[in-house]
Amino acid sequence: MKTKNKVRDIGYDAKPPESTCQDPNCPWHGVLPVRGKILKGNVVSSKMSKTVIVERNYLHFVPKYERYERRRSRISAHNPACINAKKGDRVRIAECRPLSKTKHFVVIEKM
Ligand SMILES: [Zn+2]
Repeated sequence: MKTKNKVRDIGYDAKPPESTCQDPNCPWHGVLPVRGKILKGNVVSSKMSKTVIVERNYLHFVPKYERYERRRSRISAHNPACINAKKGDRVRIAECRPLSKTKHFVVIEKM
């Protein structure tokens, strides 16, 4: 097929993936709406099927000591076949409806 890779407008400024997929829970090729927070993080595990764990390190200000403390959070995110993020990748994830008990983010872009 010569047609250009057709993707939906997800409402955020992100680069669409090169490949395509059949996943209904893909923000680009499926019907999953994304809204809310956009976060950046590193993929620390991609052992699950269509799910990755994204780790985020950030600084939190403690007013009493007027200093920052390091914090870390791990978020499980849906990983559509077209993006296929692997361990070590830096990704952007967007909030979406709950996809399972612990999944309410989806990978929208590899950076
Ligand atoms: Zn897709």
